[in-house]
Amino acid sequence: MAADISIKVGTPELIPPQRLFLPLCSPLAEAGARVRSHGAVRRDGVQVYVWVSTLEAILAHGRSDPTHEVGGWLFGRYASDGVHHFVLVEESLQAKGGGKSTVSFRFTVEDQETAAAFREHSRPDLLTVGWYHSHPLGLALSDQDKDVHRTVFRQPFHIALVMGTGGRDIGCAVWDHGQISNIGGFFVLDKRPA
Ligand SMILES: [Zn+2]
Repeated sequence: MAADISIKVGTPELIPPQRLFLPLCSPLAEAGARVRSHGAVRRDGVQVYVWVSTLEAILAHGRSDPTHEVGGWLFGRYASDGVHHFVLVEESLQAKGGGKSTVSFRFTVEDQETAAAFREHSRPDLLTVGWYHSHPLGLALSDQDKDVHRTVFRQPFHIALVMGTGGRDIGCAVWDHGQISNIGGFFVLDKRPA
């Protein structure tokens, strides 16, 4: 479980119900979620939560091809109270990508159709909340990545997760006042042991 993920996460911490100020958080409390932080997590602006099983799937995808960039879609939920923005990543879906490359990743039309079909048939309850891909060098979004984000992921709750090829580290970018901003950290959720 949690010990298998190769990134460093903080000490497990139960979520006190009074800190779950947004409507999306109550299902987490009911599910008995516990939360840890990965990296430096901001408490203002966009807060990103990822189920550990989804994070493991993403990292495993990155490790599956250390020489090319791979990527996929993120599906989940979003809520805002006007001040705080809360993105919960529940599912990921691998994309085939176009023109396998060591320096870039792009979605094909077929990938977009696959993602639309996944949402329609498998998880109509979820939104597309962003995308992920792997990088051979560093976790900063390239200019081409920012073009993809501006074009395909324009909603305020759309996020980009970028991991090193080898799936050892992972960063997170969000929309912040119209700019694509690396927020550094996010929250990792797993089920509280019974
Ligand atoms: Zn990139």
